[in-house]
Amino acid sequence: MDVIASASGFRAAADARRARDDTVGFVPTMGALHAGHASLIRRARDDCAAVAVSVFVNPEQFGPNEDFAAYPRDEHRDIAACEEMGVDLVFVPPEEEIYPTGIALIEPEPGAEGEVLEGASRPGHFRGVLKAVHRLFDLAGPCNAYFGEKDAQQLFLVRRMVSERGLPVNVVGCPTVRESDGLAVSSRNAFLSTEEREQAGCLFLGLSEAAALARKGERDTSVLVAAIAREVGATPLAKIDYAAVVDDRTFEQPRMIEGFARALVAVRFPGARLIDNLALPTGG
Ligand code: AMP
Repeated sequence: MDVIASASGFRAAADARRARDDTVGFVPTMGALHAGHASLIRRARDDCAAVAVSVFVNPEQFGPNEDFAAYPRDEHRDIAACEEMGVDLVFVPPEEEIYPTGIALIEPEPGAEGEVLEGASRPGHFRGVLKAVHRLFDLAGPCNAYFGEKDAQQLFLVRRMVSERGLPVNVVGCPTVRESDGLAVSSRNAFLSTEEREQAGCLFLGLSEAAALARKGERDTSVLVAAIAREVGATPLAKIDYAAVVDDRTFEQPRMIEGFARALVAVRFPGARLIDNLALPTGG
């Protein structure tokens, strides 16, 4: 396994793999690797001859009052985990390799769909995400890129950036990995106290309640959103940030759902802000 810190080294290593006719599977992460990341890496391993993982905690996607400084980092453990999973290239760039001084990088526009939900709660977040992902795609070159449905709005915006710009990247969405109580695995779960962790199942419970109503034929998104809010509202340490139902193909928030729909929720606990989402069964 090659551990690479420089942008030019990562580009050259990915090029070398393609020159051998290997398909490159690329998994961008912020490190603190967990079972969710592992599922993406396994999928890349199954699909592709060569697997590249990047570990970069992107400062530009954190707001000034967010947890950039506290975000969990353990590069040695991440590198060992990649080795164990049969990764070929690990890209661990220092910040100046992603954002070289004096060079104006492309900054794709997240658009209106980047201003709502996560974008409304975290102004500038998706601008930072797309800037880093575009830079990483530029370095990785033609590849399959694996992203989690856990971050559904991010996945939507990355797919759109790729299609609008005709980037040579096949974006593959992968299902959310969950703990036994349904809590989506996340690096930020480590910030929860024991009591908060016990209550953190409320996100999945609320989403499941909305899914159960949709399965029974409920189409009114205000009813589905109210079901999520009720579940979170009944959880003492949880404070709802938003709950919403979107059309999965447009990320618009319709009054009545038709076709593919997704329920999303963001919740603040004292120790961490958590997000989750679930596709709704709509027979579409
Ligand atoms: P992060 O390191 O949090 O930026 O996540 C890197 C990638 O892993 C993103 O594409 C996430 O959507 C994905 N991911 C994070 N948590 C999970 C999970 N529980 N299940 C599946 N994918 C995940």
